[in-house]
Amino acid sequence: MLEELQKLKKLQKCDAQIYQREEELDTLPEQNESLEKQIREMENKITELRNGVAIQEEERKKREEILSRGEDKLKGITGKQSAIRNKDEYNALLREIDNIKRFNKEIEEEISEVGREIDLKSQELNLVEQDNIKKVVECKHRLAENVKRMKTLESDIEKMYDERDKVAGAIRPAILRKYERIFESSKTGKAIAEVDNYICRGCNMTLPPQLYNNVLKSERIETCPNCQCILLPAENRKNDKKGPVIRETEEHPADDEE
Ligand SMILES: [Zn+2]
Repeated sequence: MLEELQKLKKLQKCDAQIYQREEELDTLPEQNESLEKQIREMENKITELRNGVAIQEEERKKREEILSRGEDKLKGITGKQSAIRNKDEYNALLREIDNIKRFNKEIEEEISEVGREIDLKSQELNLVEQDNIKKVVECKHRLAENVKRMKTLESDIEKMYDERDKVAGAIRPAILRKYERIFESSKTGKAIAEVDNYICRGCNMTLPPQLYNNVLKSERIETCPNCQCILLPAENRKNDKKGPVIRETEEHPADDEE
């Protein structure tokens, strides 16, 4: 039986490696989604601000065109002064000049107001760009690393399963089934624990002496009452020299005496 237990130990090593990688692999898609979301949000923020600036620039351009037409109109009307024939016409012309000037002034004020808004929005855009562009690069880098890591893990896991199947194939089916049942219900990916000086190394619980002796004898599969792991004697037992352990328990009536 000890030989079978040693095989289980080897199998446990394979399974632990697979388990660890599968756990890591499980966390990566969620991390990637979160990174992609961050990237999208940062890029959207930049686009939104750029659009904001572009709209304001468009507004400024429109007003500049209106102003330019207003200035042309003013020039044209000032040139008409020589054609004035009487005071009424003169007064009417002055009023029109005044109106155009007032209109042009309003447009000029609007242009500077839009200009101030463009400055503010451009400043915000610059700040966000400086900050976000760096972060987007970082996120994209992490995303690429994760994708690479996932591929490595997937290929490692595949190879490890091949190795695991070879190891498992050499174990007696009934023992393998028992091991697999324990492994599947385990929350830590452990199904085998070594025992040393009455202590289960899987959960650090002190085992009853009879159980401990049975484990040392390795005549059948014993499991830890606490962590359910299949128990096998530790290879480097500190306690081996202290023979009394076995004698002590042999005083109890054992149900499977040799
Ligand atoms: Zn235990």
